[in-house]
Amino acid sequence: MTLLPDQSGHFGEFGGKYVPETLMSVLEQLETTFAQVRRDKKFKDEFAHYLKEYAGRPTNLYLAQRLSSQFKNLKVYLKREDLLHTGAHKINNTLGQIILAKKMGKTRIIAETGAGQHGVATATAAALFGLQCEIYMGAQDIERQSLNVFRMKLMGAKVIPVTSGSQTLKDAMNEAIRDWVTNVNNTFYIIGSVAGPHPYPLMVREFQAVIGREARRQFVSKEKKLPDYLVACVGGGSNAMGLFHAFFKDKTVKIIGVEAAGHGLHSGEHSAAICAGTTGVLHGSKSKLLQTADGQIKIAHSIAAGLDYPGVGPEHSYYQQIGRAEYVGVSDKEAIAGLKILSQAEGIIPALETSHAIGYLSRLDKQAKKNSTVIVCLSGRGDKDVNTMRELI
Ligand SMILES: *Cc1c(COP(=O)(O)O)cnc(C)c1O
Repeated sequence: MTLLPDQSGHFGEFGGKYVPETLMSVLEQLETTFAQVRRDKKFKDEFAHYLKEYAGRPTNLYLAQRLSSQFKNLKVYLKREDLLHTGAHKINNTLGQIILAKKMGKTRIIAETGAGQHGVATATAAALFGLQCEIYMGAQDIERQSLNVFRMKLMGAKVIPVTSGSQTLKDAMNEAIRDWVTNVNNTFYIIGSVAGPHPYPLMVREFQAVIGREARRQFVSKEKKLPDYLVACVGGGSNAMGLFHAFFKDKTVKIIGVEAAGHGLHSGEHSAAICAGTTGVLHGSKSKLLQTADGQIKIAHSIAAGLDYPGVGPEHSYYQQIGRAEYVGVSDKEAIAGLKILSQAEGIIPALETSHAIGYLSRLDKQAKKNSTVIVCLSGRGDKDVNTMRELI
């Protein structure tokens, strides 16, 4: 048996459905359909077909020898999600949800996006299936991420600027939810991480769990044992949960989620919802989040736009509470160091998000035993970040 949320969609105290009444029946419908397709051979075959033929799965589990040689104790394997079509793990989820949308007879797709990565992955899947696609994006993000905006438009999506609040991801998510409430009949809302109301955290986990299933099989075939550590960056938490899930019951495997500590966990400028947040409700579910004492959502900061979110998926809050995973914060500076190390040791430029996971390895090396093995989820490639990096260096 795998870990499932309870009847009301909670993992322990986290998760649930905190949404307007009008959305309750849609979520229930989604829940029922998803429960059916999870076991449906036709759906599973179609999803597997697109993951393989279109996205490029399975991805390699690569032994990074020159990177490992920089550490005293670690032997590092990279799960190469950066090699997928569109350059990151997000395509796994958008393909799964779009096939589900089609099955439910929806003709219009909406999504929210911060950095534009989820918007691009959604626009890609919508183009592939010929569905109308509208992406909500904060006006400020539209300016910062003009290249991704252009990509979405090239693929036929409409990008809708959001000018409320901080004009970033959380405001875009609010607008997308508002649109969904109004247009539930023909519209499917594709959420980009293991966040949002039930059943999204479960659904997105199941669509991303292919990462861990493959990695586990590949690792065992190479090393004839299980890894000592799993390390992945955590924004909403989908690449991390995708890797972690297949190892949930392997108690000898230590699981580490890396949050963005920005300018430092005590600076007030970070995105570390688990390391430095408190329990509350955001975007339809209960989880750890960054909020003031009177419940106002704080603005998150990270050098990596994809980690720049004040919440985190409920299953991660649960993993932390039951002690199944440890969560740590890695600063902007440490992430940049991680990006440079991997680029120069292996010729692989990781995304700034992913660089947080790489940046943690030097700390892990100090506490690990000799010859420890670790799988890092290389969630995405760094092409999108070269302009940011060029300004910084
Ligand atoms: C979006 C993104 C993330 C953060 O999202 P999760 O849901 O936490 O995985 C991490 N890495 C890359 C490359 C991304 O594009």
